[in-house]
Amino acid sequence: MKVAIVGAGLLGRLLAWRLLEAGHKVSLYDKDDKAGTQSAAFVAAAMLAPITEVLDAEAEIYQHGIAGLSIWPQWIKTLEETTSVPISYAINGSFLVSHRNDSGDYQRCVQRIQAHTSVDQSSVDELNRTQLETLEPELAMSFDKALYLRDEGCIDNLALLKALEKRIVDLGGQWFEGQGFDHLTDTVISDSFTDFDTVLDCRGTAAKVDAADLRGVRGEVIRVHAPEVNLSRPVRLMHPRYKLYIAPKPNNEYVIGATQIESESEHPVTVRSSLELLSALYSVHKGFSEAEILTQYARCRPAFSDNMPKIETLGSEGKLIRINGLYRHGYLLAPVVVNETLALFNLAPSTWPEIVSALTPEDALA
Ligand SMILES: Cc1cc2nc3c(=O)[nH]c(=O)nc-3n(C[C@H](O)[C@H](O)[C@H](O)COP(=O)(O)OP(=O)(O)OC[C@H]3O[C@@H](n4cnc5c(N)ncnc54)[C@H](O)[C@@H]3O)c2cc1C
Repeated sequence: MKVAIVGAGLLGRLLAWRLLEAGHKVSLYDKDDKAGTQSAAFVAAAMLAPITEVLDAEAEIYQHGIAGLSIWPQWIKTLEETTSVPISYAINGSFLVSHRNDSGDYQRCVQRIQAHTSVDQSSVDELNRTQLETLEPELAMSFDKALYLRDEGCIDNLALLKALEKRIVDLGGQWFEGQGFDHLTDTVISDSFTDFDTVLDCRGTAAKVDAADLRGVRGEVIRVHAPEVNLSRPVRLMHPRYKLYIAPKPNNEYVIGATQIESESEHPVTVRSSLELLSALYSVHKGFSEAEILTQYARCRPAFSDNMPKIETLGSEGKLIRINGLYRHGYLLAPVVVNETLALFNLAPSTWPEIVSALTPEDALA
């Protein structure tokens, strides 16, 4: 089939790659250039955190997140082998910690995770300082206990986006940079995409002009280079007002951020947010005091009102498919959502349901 994909962020690139590998012809359109700096995918911490996500999300996110985790290793391996771009990726656990004064918040989180019936409790451990010292020595300098979440990890999103770009181009995908579509309606499809069998709308938050139920949820992140800090796993610091996360990236770089803000503004990170984030960061590891601030971004995550991803077949004869709502778990869930979308290509468009739940029970068992 001839497929046009509008939006070359996380979903657009992954779908383009998988469709090309399956023998389809793909053209990719984005208002941005190939670096993709405008996407949520570019700024994301890209933690793969099915357990900590259940603290604020539906139970299905956990099951499908675990399914997503089982797909990533093969995808990363294939991309590394075909592009020679190294993609740092590890599922070797994450930590939840708090300072003594905030131990109430920490304890409540621990209890909620331990009481969650869907979470595999054999992957959750409470560590004392000696155990923490063995696993993550530099974290034990500031904390005497931690909750260790074995099934969590992190991906080097910048390397992943680069590898996808290379592979898409190598496979003959056509990439149109600086070519945006403000609306994707039946009229636009019939005027601009006559040559294509199907158009995939992967514009993230920009699709809200056509999707009434879609909203953006602001997130702020700061990337630092900290040669004096050696943390190998993501860390979440419990705090009454904000929960800081620290996601390690290659070469002693760390992406730090706090929880979401219900705002669609993408104005730059404020002084107050910077102060809060950076002072919380310094409280986790004193080595961050000499870190260089590399970038600061504010971007919105695309979310539907139920905070669940959705695949909608729209337009006449399934000519348009909108895939969206990956919210704050885009990296975690993308493999499942992408495979669910690809499954549609094995069916006749006339049999496509209007709304495909992006997360079906079968995926969770995959
Ligand atoms: C601060 C932050 C931290 C995050 N951390 C994590 C995390 O730790 N773990 C996790 O799993 N997920 C995380 N996410 C979520 C994840 O990044 C998103 O769920 C994911 O990127 C959504 O993918 P997408 O392809 O739908 O949208 P995007 O990645 O935003 O891509 C949308 C693309 O559409 C393009 N576009 C926009 N308008 C147009 C137009 N009019 N025409 C053509 N193209 C257009 C954009 O340029 C962009 O390339 C985070 C997100 C943010 C913002």
